[in-house]
Amino acid sequence: MQQATAHTRLGRLAALLFPLVLAAPAHAHGINGHVHVTGWAIESLPEGPLQAFFAEPEVFDAALIGAAFPDSGYATDDPYGELAHWPPFTHALLEHLLAGEAPFATLEDRKVAAFLMGIAAHGLQDELFDSVFLHQVEHRDGQGQDEVDPGTDGFLWADGHLRFRPPLYLPGETLATVFDAQGHEVTVESMELGLRRVKFLVIDNIEALGPNLDAMYRPLLPWTAAHYLDPDVPGSLRAEIPATAAYLEAIWARLHREASPLVGYAWPAPPRRLRSVDASLVDAWVTVVFGAGAVVGSLNEERVAWVDEAGDPVPFELHHTRWSFSRPMANTRLVQLRPTRDLVPDHAYTVSVAEGVELVGGGRTEERWSYTFRTPCAPGVECAPPDAGAPDEGAAVDAGEAGGGADAGPGGEGAGPGGGGADAATSGDPGGAEASGGDGCQGVPVAPVMPWWPALLARRRRRRR
Ligand SMILES: [Zn+2]
Repeated sequence: MQQATAHTRLGRLAALLFPLVLAAPAHAHGINGHVHVTGWAIESLPEGPLQAFFAEPEVFDAALIGAAFPDSGYATDDPYGELAHWPPFTHALLEHLLAGEAPFATLEDRKVAAFLMGIAAHGLQDELFDSVFLHQVEHRDGQGQDEVDPGTDGFLWADGHLRFRPPLYLPGETLATVFDAQGHEVTVESMELGLRRVKFLVIDNIEALGPNLDAMYRPLLPWTAAHYLDPDVPGSLRAEIPATAAYLEAIWARLHREASPLVGYAWPAPPRRLRSVDASLVDAWVTVVFGAGAVVGSLNEERVAWVDEAGDPVPFELHHTRWSFSRPMANTRLVQLRPTRDLVPDHAYTVSVAEGVELVGGGRTEERWSYTFRTPCAPGVECAPPDAGAPDEGAAVDAGEAGGGADAGPGGEGAGPGGGGADAATSGDPGGAEASGGDGCQGVPVAPVMPWWPALLARRRRRRR
């Protein structure tokens, strides 16, 4: 599938300013968020082959810089960045690696595979953030992507959560070959230039950008600043961690030619309840997250269902990833069910996705998936606490103690939606491995603001076909 590039205002501005290094307000965007959510997701993986795979430091770092790669195309105004965001490219790269003789034989092979997983994680995170959390930002703060993308990187810095700074690495020849097969010619030099700009201006330079970003956007985004790491809010950076981990597991399975269930995660993730019964609020939406790209047209109301305890259908609008605009031939890594009538408090609802979903790259799913969640209690009515039994409730949980439990195992009939490591998403430090309290983080606001630094940016992409 071919996807066109469409830069936003800031993206074009960044591309314009890069070569010139003009005086401009410092902007950055969620690239550090991508790198960190990916790193935290890897750190939250349960014990097993994938966790062991990432135990090699160079492999881990390759995934982190891979998570920065898709936005590097905006830094050179090249469409490769947009292409890299979406499942067709992920699928093509994966197939290219599988066509090799031994995808994991050498360290370089393993780094390329990790880089692929980083790219894929970035694309999924953008879909989740934009299709869920961004709606909350628009509703609560009255702001949009131009503010929240750079703003959240500033908040991550100011709140002391940034600790990953992967070295530059680019499997350029492999990427160029796959882009070419996708119908887009790009040189290794162009990709290197884009990735260098992202690495040096946004990742390595965050001490300079962070204070400015935080000062600029925190006043505009008070709700976002309070909730961008809230594990209870679907699509927040912290809530993205278990969804990303589930996606990495799914790609790992595909890299080993093993089947994986279509659904990797869902919000609400039991034992959490849906946040609201009010159909007018984003809090009443249900979002089902896939571990692979699927064709929008095959995810219609006949295949996606929502029923109450009596089995009666709940009326809802079906949406897909935000930038697909639900075009039948577009692809998506999620479906979203928005009720059109208020729900019943403290009630069990079941959402299902029938078999036959068309996958990017061909083939259809053969298994039906469903899961059940509960709505919140009515105001003033006593019932079980919303998150009763949640292993992470109200406490900083170390990633090493997380995972498994009721949420283990993505997808499957009647299964909970939690992927491995779901609980790490709720620790005091988003990644859990190194607590952000005390002296654990590097984000001390000591660096001077550099107002001349070029504007940068944009994890944004708009799909047009
Ligand atoms: Zn992006």
